Amino acid sequence: MDFENRLARVLADMGTTLDDATNAQVFCALLRATRDLETAMRPAAGERKLYYFSAEFLVGRLLRANLMNLGLVDEVERILSAHGTSLAEVEDSEPEPSLGNGGLGRLAACFLDSIASLGLPGDGVGLNYHYGLFRQDLSRGVQGEEPNPWIEPESWLIDTGTSFSVPFGFGPLTARMYDIEVPGYENGVVNRLHLFDVEDPAPAPEHGIAFDKGDVRHSLTSFLYPDDSDEAGRLLRVYQQYFMVSAGAQLILAELEERGFAPEELAEHVAVHINDTHPSMVIPELVRLLTERGIAFEDAAAIVERTCGYTNHTILAEALETWPMGYLEQVAPGIVPVIRQLDELARTRTGDERVAVIDDSGVVHMANMDVHFSHAVNGVAALHTQILVESEMRPFAELYPEKFSNKTNGITFRRWLMGCNPALAGLVTSAIGDGWKRDAAQLEDLLALRGDAVFTQALLDVKGQNKERLAAWLRAEKNIQVDPHSIFDIQVKRMHQYKRQQMNALYAIWKYLQIKRGNVPNRPVTMVFGAKAAPAYTLAKDTIALLLALSGLIADDPEVSPWLRLVFVENYNVTAAEHLIPAADVSEQISLASKEASGTSNMKFMANGALTLGTLDGANVEIAELVGRENVYLFGRSSEDVIDLYDRGDYRPWDFWQSDPGLTEVLDFVCSPELLARGDAGCLTRVYRDFVAKDYFMALLDARDYVAVKERCLADYEDRLAWGEKTLVNIAKSGFFSSDRTIREYNRDIWHLS
Ligand SMILES: *Cc1c(COP(=O)(O)O)cnc(C)c1O
Repeated sequence: MDFENRLARVLADMGTTLDDATNAQVFCALLRATRDLETAMRPAAGERKLYYFSAEFLVGRLLRANLMNLGLVDEVERILSAHGTSLAEVEDSEPEPSLGNGGLGRLAACFLDSIASLGLPGDGVGLNYHYGLFRQDLSRGVQGEEPNPWIEPESWLIDTGTSFSVPFGFGPLTARMYDIEVPGYENGVVNRLHLFDVEDPAPAPEHGIAFDKGDVRHSLTSFLYPDDSDEAGRLLRVYQQYFMVSAGAQLILAELEERGFAPEELAEHVAVHINDTHPSMVIPELVRLLTERGIAFEDAAAIVERTCGYTNHTILAEALETWPMGYLEQVAPGIVPVIRQLDELARTRTGDERVAVIDDSGVVHMANMDVHFSHAVNGVAALHTQILVESEMRPFAELYPEKFSNKTNGITFRRWLMGCNPALAGLVTSAIGDGWKRDAAQLEDLLALRGDAVFTQALLDVKGQNKERLAAWLRAEKNIQVDPHSIFDIQVKRMHQYKRQQMNALYAIWKYLQIKRGNVPNRPVTMVFGAKAAPAYTLAKDTIALLLALSGLIADDPEVSPWLRLVFVENYNVTAAEHLIPAADVSEQISLASKEASGTSNMKFMANGALTLGTLDGANVEIAELVGRENVYLFGRSSEDVIDLYDRGDYRPWDFWQSDPGLTEVLDFVCSPELLARGDAGCLTRVYRDFVAKDYFMALLDARDYVAVKERCLADYEDRLAWGEKTLVNIAKSGFFSSDRTIREYNRDIWHLS
């Protein structure tokens, strides 16, 4: 049956037709038709099957991505246009699944797309959060948090009818398995994302995101990363993690048996991947389940070690999870003896206390358990892996040198170029054919067009169209006006001090003061921010308040607003990213060197022809190597300098502040009467005090250089053809950052799926 008939039949079931249906109904019908088509398709098969465990899968809207991979976008556009609508209009009815919150979750989503697209057997395993992290509300000048429900009567979730019993300390709890289908790109494969859920989920809180954290049976899957500032919240995180991995481990062994293999053969037929430390308890859980099936502890531990791989995502100490043994005894008593045995086993390999699984205060170090009992450990960009091996995980790298490798992150070009930037995708295809859609490395063929002024102008024209499109979307969706002829300078990512949005805020103040003095730029600049702050992260929320106050001050100042705009896009998510990134001129990647493990938005911006303004941090290092120094704007201290400064412990922000009158003026403005009239005094004062007294992520260290290089970058924009050539080189070199390349490397070095 062709897709048009399939769609007509679903609409008839719904009691309507394409001509009568609303866009919301058409969306619903397309979802059902797509889902049913996929249900009939098969997952990839092979000797070894991967289970990718992750607390987050930030998948984004799925209709367009699925239709694209099924090769149906053109047909659907044709059907819809005959009825006066379009995929873009219809997909506006699709709620974005709130199953993740940032780069780590988005990476997991890109990986699932690449695994299926490469025809590899691999499923995701996670949790079915009902209300996500939160929906951000900025209407009161500070961040407000509301539930972000996304599950409607028709959704991408398929109730598999399969469930597992998870043995918690308080008794068993049923984990029900829902699947989201993951089609490969035009290859007939459909893998699965398995999401576990409680049977009787709690309703959303009426207002805000406070809820009864003790009501585990009903609220376990309510929110991603529930507030962990009290013990009930920390325990709930452990409940979530054990629920995910226990159900996932039981699924693995059930499927292994179904495929006709014995539990002893686990490592030959299964690869388990642990995405950051949240799923670490899968290690003791698998050991527990294997010993239950009659395998001796030592053998079970060896099998599990050969099965598991672990990816580290951060060197920020506070992000490496540790759990007191007491929590585990309460939540998951079944794995406590296993963890003690694993600790003893690890101690037979080394007497180094620094790498102990259980430390002398009885705290379990999840990353340490991961490294001892995985056969492969990787960082996510060359610099990050180097820092892991040479400093953060040095004792481990000396103990297990063969385990460590780098796997530089990637993005799926299906979503992040073909899907979100059809104009650029079309231009690229008209120039070099469409081989790049399967093999992004072929984008390098664009280099032959360097010096071709007609093509370069076409690139600039596409960017102009995308800026118009973004302006229209901001007006319609967010009630924000921007000038498409201004330079779009965009910083979108989670709000965190190490990412240094606060340094970008200092630039905004500096620029504001310059314009007030009559130093107007050649062309207006639009600074765009989008970011959620963790609800308990005060300074991050304060930085949002500062940016909102600045935004209003600038907009209402008739001397400044013709030249500078600062817009804060509320509730940044994948959908917003898909509108923002194709329209960016400048990509802000300004983390303190050594702190951003990789970054992936830097890759998305590059592929969409934005130029990186950044530090030599994370994958920025590899971007700069690929495109050459003349095609990026680098500033700031090196990671070596920064690590040195931390080691010496003698960074003093107040020295910078006092010795530099320009900086004093900019900093003092944070607590100026103008801003205090617009923003919360508590928030602004805390930001100010942190700058001068602490500045842990050294914004003041790099601020001068940042302002200087940003000014040079904005001035360079005026030589349009030269700028266009730089964007060309960036697009041409971005193919390295395809997650297909990343997944091929994981498969070659770690998973060995086929
Ligand atoms: C890519 C992406 C991220 C990661 O951004 P970084 O700048 O790499 O931290 C976060 N959120 C969303 C919605 C994304 O699409």
